[in-house]
Amino acid sequence: MIIRMKVEATKAEYERITQYLKGKGFQIKDISTSGVMVFGIVGETETIDSHDLYAFLGVAEVIQIHTPYKKANRSFKSEETIVKIGDSLEVGGNDFVVMAGPCSVESYDQLKTIATSLKKQGVTLLRAGAFKPRTSPYAFQGLGLEGLMILRQVADELGMMIVSEISSTEYIDAFIAHVDLIQVGARNMQNYDLLKALGKTNKPILLKRGFSNTIEEWLMSAEYIMDAGNEQIILCERGIRTFEKYTRNTLDLSAVLAVKELSHLPVIVDPSHATGRWNMIEKLSLAAFAVGSHGLMVEVHHDPEHAFSDGAQALRLKKFDHLMDELRRFSILLDKPIR
Ligand code: PEP
Ligand code: MN
Repeated sequence: MIIRMKVEATKAEYERITQYLKGKGFQIKDISTSGVMVFGIVGETETIDSHDLYAFLGVAEVIQIHTPYKKANRSFKSEETIVKIGDSLEVGGNDFVVMAGPCSVESYDQLKTIATSLKKQGVTLLRAGAFKPRTSPYAFQGLGLEGLMILRQVADELGMMIVSEISSTEYIDAFIAHVDLIQVGARNMQNYDLLKALGKTNKPILLKRGFSNTIEEWLMSAEYIMDAGNEQIILCERGIRTFEKYTRNTLDLSAVLAVKELSHLPVIVDPSHATGRWNMIEKLSLAAFAVGSHGLMVEVHHDPEHAFSDGAQALRLKKFDHLMDELRRFSILLDKPIR
C-alpha cells in the first residue's frame, strides 16, 4: 500500500500517520519525490481498511497494491484448488460437474421422480432447497429439516450426493451430518456469522455470488470462510442485478474469467437463477462450458407448472436430457469429462 500526502501536508501530519502505522507493526519505506511526501507500507496490509487512512490529516491518496483478500488470491497460491465432494467427485480440475434438481424439495415422490431421471443422465450431485430464503414471507419457505431428510433419503436410495442451501447457523450440525456440499445462497453471501461458522467445518462450500455484489466482495466472502480454516470453496455465478428487466438477473459470464484470473478457487455457473427463464438455460449452459466454468447448477422439475417455487426457470426432464446430450458434444470437443 502506498500513501501520497497532499503537497501542503506538514511534516507533523506525515509523522502522525507513519507513527500510527509503525505502532501497528508495519514498516514504512519513504519514497518522497519532487517535494511530495510519499511512503510505502510494508507488512500484512490486508488487515488495514485503506479508507480508514483518509481520516488522517494531510493524506491525499491511498493506493492499494494487493487485493484485500489473500487466501483466495491466485498470487499467493499457484496451484488450482480442487474441491472434493464425497469420495468420488472433484470440482476445479478438468471435469465439468453438473449439479441439478428442483428449486425446492416438495415431497418424496416429487424428488424421487426428478432424481431418478437425472441419475439416468449420469448426474451424481442432486440439488434441492429445504430452507428457502424467499423474497416474500408469503411464498413457500421450504420443508425445513423434514425436506433435508427427504433429500438425503432419495439421494441414498439412488447413490447420489446432495447440495442444499443453509440459511442460518442454527442448522449447521444437521447440514454437517447430512449434506455433501453446503450451499450459501446469494442472499446470505455477506452473512458473516454464517461464513465464519462454515469456515470451522470441514465440509465443501458452494458460495453463490450476491446479486448486488462485486467480484471483490464475493472473494472477500470466500476469504471469511478460508480465514476461519476451510479452503474447500466452489464459487457460483448466478446472475447480478442490472437495469435490464427482461431476465430475472443478468448472467455475468465474464465473472468466470475474472475469478479464474484472480483466484485459484473453482467457479461454476447457475443459469437458472440468472435468467429466470427455462428457454435460455441450454444455450447459456453451453456458453458457461465454453467459457471455462468448472460446472453447472441447473433447476429441473417434472411438472414446472405446479412447482412450489421457480417453475418458470425449471427445465422439464426431457429438456434436461437434451441439455445433457448437447453438453456431451461439448465435452468431446473441449476434452473435459462431465461428472
Ligand atoms: C437456489 O439455488 O435455490 C437459490 C435460492 O439461489 P440464489 O441464492 O442464487 O438465489
Ligand atoms: Mn430456485
